[in-house]
Amino acid sequence: MIIGIDDTDSPNGMCTTYLAAKLKKKFKIKSTLRLIRLNPNIPYKTRGNGAVAIVTDFNHKIRKEVIDYITTYSHLSHKKTNPGIAFVPKLSRKKQIILEKFYRKVVSEHVSIIEAEDTAVEIGAEVIKFKNGRGIIGALAACGAVLDDKTFELIAYREKRNYGQERKINFQSVFSMNEKFYPKCFDSVDIVSNQILITPHGPDPIFCGIRGKSSMVVKKAWNDIIPLEKIEFIQVFETNQASDDHLKWKKIREIKPFDCVKISGKVSSNPKTIQGGHVFFKLMDETGEIDCGAYRQTGEFRDVMKQLCTGDEIIVYGGIGRHSNTLNLEKICIEKLKSILLDTPPLCCGRKMTSSGKNKGFKCRKCNNKIRKVMKTKVFRDIELGWFEVPPRARRHLSKPLVRFNRK
Ligand SMILES: [Zn+2]
Repeated sequence: MIIGIDDTDSPNGMCTTYLAAKLKKKFKIKSTLRLIRLNPNIPYKTRGNGAVAIVTDFNHKIRKEVIDYITTYSHLSHKKTNPGIAFVPKLSRKKQIILEKFYRKVVSEHVSIIEAEDTAVEIGAEVIKFKNGRGIIGALAACGAVLDDKTFELIAYREKRNYGQERKINFQSVFSMNEKFYPKCFDSVDIVSNQILITPHGPDPIFCGIRGKSSMVVKKAWNDIIPLEKIEFIQVFETNQASDDHLKWKKIREIKPFDCVKISGKVSSNPKTIQGGHVFFKLMDETGEIDCGAYRQTGEFRDVMKQLCTGDEIIVYGGIGRHSNTLNLEKICIEKLKSILLDTPPLCCGRKMTSSGKNKGFKCRKCNNKIRKVMKTKVFRDIELGWFEVPPRARRHLSKPLVRFNRK
């Protein structure tokens, strides 16, 4: 039996991982908990869109206790909090595939509550809705997560009296830990901005989360962290973070609002920087055209995007944002740079001749000498082929850092 839980928290606090960790303790569940991130573009979600799955030996006592627990501890009074629970029995191979397909859709696209209910009926799972019940989408999807490229996160929880207070941590200990464990542990700090990334900022119970490639390595890394406040307990989760599970290859015409996609195409307009420092350009494939954006917060990544030119062949990874049909870039691969040729003025009478118009040659203003033949020079492109990604501080939980790519 797998129990899935989602959407128990609110901007005012709580965290679904915390509820799951408490349940694990209470029922002495031995299996590793799963923290499953779902489509980050879904507009109803307030934070990282994470659901939890607990693999356990099912009995009816647990079922009732889980429901009571979620009823008691969820932030039900908040209008955006609509918890859901899924109880998924052991499935036949056929039903397992249906559930996996459902997960693949929820992690990448927009899915309705009705689709979740239909899937639950199809595979014989029970779903329990609180309020509008939107949480059943994530709860059920979390139970179907495949985790074929899993990573781990160790979460340390705060003592209740510190909720809402600034998190107190030895800054240097995080940088030292990073130096020792990177890239086995990743996205712990942002070197360029000199920020630590393991501590969140909200009123939730999480003190910090350390992401890494194994349960062992995140525990070792935690030993190097010096918290300056008391920790209630720690819990390690298996996760789909840093896996790119959310990205699906699509043609531009197939893209729907909130989709997470990979597209191969050609830059079809030169990048423009708008007020606020965000950079936008258009991308085209044989089915259509789409706006791509790199926001100011992506810093050095955005600066690379400024160097793109119409005609460059690239692959983009990203998601359709909440407020527009713009693809927010997470990574790009530059496959081919367009050569740009410019007319070069020859010299005459010791200075550059002036252009007589496009493809009309040059003339000398001093002696009136005319030259028909146009010299072309290749413009130096201040950009290289290959992969570029947003810096850690702007990275989404699901986004796979390049350092995790198999470079063969
Ligand atoms: Zn001349």
